[in-house]
Amino acid sequence: MKGNLIIISSPSGGGKGTLIKEVREMLPDLGYSCSHTTRPQRFGEEEGREYFFISREEFEQRIESGDFLEHANVHGNLYGTSLAESRKVFNTGKDLIVEVDVQGALQMMANADLDGSRISIFILPPSFEVLRARLTSRNTEEPDELRTRLKNSFNEVSEYQKFDYVIVNEDLPTAARQLAAIITAERQSTDRQTSAIKGILDSFDASRHLFEGE
Ligand code: 5GP
Repeated sequence: MKGNLIIISSPSGGGKGTLIKEVREMLPDLGYSCSHTTRPQRFGEEEGREYFFISREEFEQRIESGDFLEHANVHGNLYGTSLAESRKVFNTGKDLIVEVDVQGALQMMANADLDGSRISIFILPPSFEVLRARLTSRNTEEPDELRTRLKNSFNEVSEYQKFDYVIVNEDLPTAARQLAAIITAERQSTDRQTSAIKGILDSFDASRHLFEGE
């Protein structure tokens, strides 16, 4: 059975990376696809863990070859979800969680070639001030870059209504529990359980003779 595609988006600094890490510990059978980016590697980041860091030239070649499920220019760098990485997870039947910017999320929601169910979740910071404080204190961007990310957050938060769910990320453990609850509930949807339910219904069919004639 094919898993759900769980699309997580938020403005930069919304805390979705930390939230996803937390939820993957709570739900270890959740598949994850590591994105590709042309953004320079930050101190402490590992190739193939946070991202596959590639040149703009290689990224453009990969777009040409149709290697991405979605891709976008985010704050001046290119980011993309690899089709091959995603397929690897889907082939195991697991749910796949992807962390993408709002443009990438909208592309995935609109992609008619993607079968299976898609759930989109927007992570909203509790206020602009909190977003600014989080982005500033993580100290990973130059002042110009920080300003671009904050400026872009206005348009990003205005798209929240296009998502199926919204989580306000005020307190990490609470937000992680809410995200895990959504993923778990979606797994119980009737559509997702058709093949498991078939075996149960077959057992009822096989016992129908016990009541024949009554
Ligand atoms: P950062 O540079 O802070 O790691 O990420 C910047 C933005 O790019 C974040 O909003 C992040 O979610 C988004 N992003 C990360 N990977 C992808 C991806 O594969 N596709 C798209 N569209 N956005 C991504």
